[in-house]
Amino acid sequence: MDFELNGVELDVIKTAHDFAESRVRPRARDIDEQDKFPSDLAAEMGRLGLFGLHMPEEYGGTNLGYKAYVLAIEELCSVSMTVGAIMAINALAQECLVRFGTDAQKKRFLPPLVAGESLSTFAFTEGQTGSDPRAITTVAVLDDDDYVLSGEKTFASLAHSASVAIIFAKDDTGKVSAFLVDPKSEGFIIEKEIEMLGVRGEDVCPVMLDHVRVPRENLLGEAGKGYGVLLTAINVGQLGISAEAVGIARGALAMSLSYAKDRMVKDKPMTDLPTTQSLLGEMAARTEAARWLTYRTADLKDHNRLTGKHASMAKLFASQAANDVVDMAMQIHGSYGYTKELEIERLYRDAKVTQIYEVVSEVQRLIIGATLAHES
Ligand SMILES: Cc1cc2nc3c(=O)[nH]c(=O)nc-3n(C[C@H](O)[C@H](O)[C@H](O)COP(=O)(O)OP(=O)(O)OC[C@H]3O[C@@H](n4cnc5c(N)ncnc54)[C@H](O)[C@@H]3O)c2cc1C
Repeated sequence: MDFELNGVELDVIKTAHDFAESRVRPRARDIDEQDKFPSDLAAEMGRLGLFGLHMPEEYGGTNLGYKAYVLAIEELCSVSMTVGAIMAINALAQECLVRFGTDAQKKRFLPPLVAGESLSTFAFTEGQTGSDPRAITTVAVLDDDDYVLSGEKTFASLAHSASVAIIFAKDDTGKVSAFLVDPKSEGFIIEKEIEMLGVRGEDVCPVMLDHVRVPRENLLGEAGKGYGVLLTAINVGQLGISAEAVGIARGALAMSLSYAKDRMVKDKPMTDLPTTQSLLGEMAARTEAARWLTYRTADLKDHNRLTGKHASMAKLFASQAANDVVDMAMQIHGSYGYTKELEIERLYRDAKVTQIYEVVSEVQRLIIGATLAHES
């Protein structure tokens, strides 16, 4: 068991940290307030190699592994969850392509995604189904050499910036298939951005598919096997969300410590109060536990041993830790924390979604429990 990060991983942390401090921190509040996708920062992340950390070198990546991927997301999310989450969202399409794409699909779509020259959106959620992707109603009908996709997706992140969309639809086998879709296709209609409580600026939109023609060669993976594509991608997404949660918790702890050191209670810094120390201690312990579970889960992925159970455990625990930590952070900040003056309120809003998107915590508990019940 080796708990030391190696030199390359420390370099990744430094790169992400320097970018987060110099480029993201000055913008974090504005991105949230203006609810505007930071496309220039996304492009810079690409140039810095952040989208290629876990991608093969032949497609422009550095093949440093999924541990590097979570380390970078954690750094970015300790400053702005909106910016850090771009990595985890982009990773969904990247993972689909790298695991299931044909050589031609990989060569065409991966290099620009890795370089940050283009971004991707990943749409499985529909109005009536978020937790049960098997129940999706979007259809893909084969017509000569094209599939024709019709239906409605919602909550598609990065929708306006994406130059490729991964769409899940039921084909004529009645099973889910995955498709690589050009968002500029006729009938691909991105509707008005949904105003969110947190991760504002992530450009989350409903998408209408009105008889969108998709060439047959853009089927991703085998026909009817899209559910497997979805789960494989979601496991990597959940790993990213675990890192988002760790980053948020870390950010909230740092803000709380700094605030409590400066705030005087009965002529002494608030950090002298045993109750404050107790909160800080609890926050630090939960953050640390979430961090190491996330690193360990990324390490499993690096060794091709990641399962749905592991990804669910990491996201379930880290997202709960993040929400507990931001709650305690808010308590330390008192009424000032509850105002728009201080930044802790943004972290408080951002943290909640980690328990909701890419599988709600309730379902994650069931996945873990059901797996345990059936393991031999
Ligand atoms: C900011 C943001 C970004 C998003 N980005 C994307 C994206 O890029 N692409 C995309 O496809 N989707 C995206 N989503 C959608 C998100 O992944 C889904 O909303 C999520 O999976 C939950 O689905 P739902 O909202 O339909 O909740 P529901 O499935 O309606 O669940 C609501 C509640 O019902 C209960 N519940 C539901 N099913 C079960 C069950 N089986 N067992 C026990 N309890 C259950 C739980 O309490 C759960 O919290 C995003 C959402 C947000 C908020």
